[in-house]
Amino acid sequence: MKVFKFGGASVKDADGIKNVYEVLQQVGHEDVLLVISAMGKTTNALEVVIKDYVSKSPELQSSIQEVKKYHNQILIDLFDDDKHPVFAAVNHIFSDLESFLKNNKSPNYNFVYDQIVSQGEIVSTTIVSHYFNYRGLKNQWLDVREFIKTDNTYRDAIVDWDQTQKLISKNVKKKSLNITQGFLGSDENNFTTTLGREGSDYTAAIFAYCLNAESVTIWKDVPGVLNADPRYFENAVLLNQISYREAIELAFYGATVIHPKTLQPLQKKEIPLYVKSFVNPLLPGTSVSKGADLEPHAPCFIVKKDQLLISLSSLDFSFIMEENISEIFALLHKYKMKVHLIQNSAISFSVCVDDKFGNFQELKTILSKKFKVTYNDNVSLYTIRHFNERSADAVAKNKEVLVRQVSRETMQIVTK
Ligand code: ADP
Ligand code: ASP
Ligand code: MG
Repeated sequence: MKVFKFGGASVKDADGIKNVYEVLQQVGHEDVLLVISAMGKTTNALEVVIKDYVSKSPELQSSIQEVKKYHNQILIDLFDDDKHPVFAAVNHIFSDLESFLKNNKSPNYNFVYDQIVSQGEIVSTTIVSHYFNYRGLKNQWLDVREFIKTDNTYRDAIVDWDQTQKLISKNVKKKSLNITQGFLGSDENNFTTTLGREGSDYTAAIFAYCLNAESVTIWKDVPGVLNADPRYFENAVLLNQISYREAIELAFYGATVIHPKTLQPLQKKEIPLYVKSFVNPLLPGTSVSKGADLEPHAPCFIVKKDQLLISLSSLDFSFIMEENISEIFALLHKYKMKVHLIQNSAISFSVCVDDKFGNFQELKTILSKKFKVTYNDNVSLYTIRHFNERSADAVAKNKEVLVRQVSRETMQIVTK
């Protein structure tokens, strides 16, 4: 069996969905499990719904309307007959969502988030499955929540591999086309959980692992894994072949083309991962497999924008001792700061972090009781794998460099 994953960009409108159909015609669809994400930017739009719901904003109705309108337009563009049952099916999903909003009593934000945000994937797979059937491409719609079991860490759920393995082995029908949702799972009470933003690549890997799949292909709007994100770097080049290890490193440092959790399950069973273009599906793209790096390595560039560089020094010139560092990390963890770089010296300690949840001011007040706190906001963190002089100079050019850190294969530069 092969596992394919199509992300939001590939199904962002009716033409995108028609293109997915064409891709399957070209590359084959027998014995395939298709993992599909929410359409376009639906997850972001549902996050607005959640925000409006939780803050009891008067905008709530219009934010729900926006999500409905977007999907309705796609339905109109895909199906000639407005009596087609897909219209009722999609309506039903949105009615369920609205009943949830009306009846929910849980104050648990993360729980509420998952029950709402998950509807993006439910709607998108419903539409795609109906559309394929409409075009004569018979398929089976699977509710992923009956297969991927997790704990109840809503928004960042941890997979229960034993249960998941059993359910997938027993219930996924081989030799046919199966369509299911990325990013979702369910807990022991069958409430919906999610695996973390951008988690659909990981879903594909979970199925591949449990099915002992022949391969996983993630279909993207780029030709494959490039040596840099083409949105931020000119002249990015395709990496034809990379090892699991190289792919894990790139994903870890922030190359968003592959979700970092995707690689470990695949590497364990040596299942190859292909990253290919949904625009040119017959091109080879990038193949990720065991020990497959081409030497010498081309420098690879990764950028994380809008980071925060925090520097702490002791108030009395005393050394930053281990206990201080552990206390600092406990606070960073508590305030949900994702640490991307650490630099330590005799009397100061700097971290480059992502303050996704906007907690820095609160954290700063606490840190200031014990340390002198200075910071730069809105900095960029560049990582260059397999750096050389030229690549480092190119990144630093015309920028103020605040931190530079070098290890054997990797250089990291924080710039203003
Ligand atoms: P989807 O969610 O549709 O599966 P993503 O948008 O998450 O796809 O991933 C594709 C995007 O990843 C590309 O459009 C590109 O901008 C970005 N990207 C970041 N780093 C790289 C890289 N090294 N190579 C290719 N694309 C990259
Ligand atoms: N729809 C989810 C998100 O946007 C999961 C995914 O696309 O991978 O985060
Ligand atoms: Mg994505």
